[in-house]
Amino acid sequence: MQYPDWIWHNGAIKRWAEATTHVMSHALHYGSSVFEGIRCYQTPQGPAIFRLTDHNRRLFASAKIYDMPVPYSLDQINAACREVIRANENTTDYLRPVAYRGLGGFGLSADTPTDVAVATWKMGQYLGASVLETGIDACVSSWQRFAPNTIPAGAKAGGNYLSGQLVAREARRLGFGEGIALASTGLLSEGAGENLFLVFDGALHTTPVSAALLNGITRNTIITLARDAGIDVIERDLPREYLYLCDELFMCGTAAEITPIRSVDGRQVGAGKPGPVTRRIQELFFGLFDGKTPDKYGWLEAL
Ligand code: PMP
Repeated sequence: MQYPDWIWHNGAIKRWAEATTHVMSHALHYGSSVFEGIRCYQTPQGPAIFRLTDHNRRLFASAKIYDMPVPYSLDQINAACREVIRANENTTDYLRPVAYRGLGGFGLSADTPTDVAVATWKMGQYLGASVLETGIDACVSSWQRFAPNTIPAGAKAGGNYLSGQLVAREARRLGFGEGIALASTGLLSEGAGENLFLVFDGALHTTPVSAALLNGITRNTIITLARDAGIDVIERDLPREYLYLCDELFMCGTAAEITPIRSVDGRQVGAGKPGPVTRRIQELFFGLFDGKTPDKYGWLEAL
């Protein structure tokens, strides 16, 4: 991994080696952090941060769920994101704002101060080179997502990713590209770090937010672009076996972008390669960054 030269930390741009936190920070012990992952794309109009404000709104929403005060405004966090990309001379493609409980005691309800950092690095293709064209082989995990009355899946909190690590590491150990988790209801939830779309008869079906998933911004982007293009989108509960029976399947997220799935649990999905609806969605999505899809919602936020 190539680390960046500069990181924004508690209001200042610092050298990589100086952007540190103490081992007695609350977040390190209890998972008490909230974060975002945001991509920066090179467009014909120059570098643009994709849905920067929507991502940082979700950062504040996650902090609200955990009653974690964030000592900066939305505008300040947006500015910090821009500043850190510029400081690293626009050599990175991914932003990671993180707000976390710092030093100030170990009580679970301690009013620790919230520290905030924005890091950036070069992500490239998260699930491996060329998977956007070939698709991945996925498996359903032996681990379930947390029940909705235990840990809120709608917050993008550090602690949630203990679940994601179990799912992703199990999948990798078994030789799969990514793991898919069921919710505590036994119905489909989402990938370790991605939302799911299944295609039946030309329509997109995606699992609902009540299925213990993160309400992804890429998911919302796809729903919007698809409906604008006249493709039906249905949010619904889906059982596991529909993964095997659908015509096409893909996962999506900021890191994974739109990654086709060619098999699940050793069963070929559809034709075993990205199908026409998946291709169309990829075209519409990536078209935002080369100007082929008009940015009618102002999602590209200039540096
Ligand atoms: N689900 C989980 C668990 C995730 O970590 C992510 C990535 N943030 C997503 C879904 C996709 O969300 P987004 O499209 O906002 O990146």
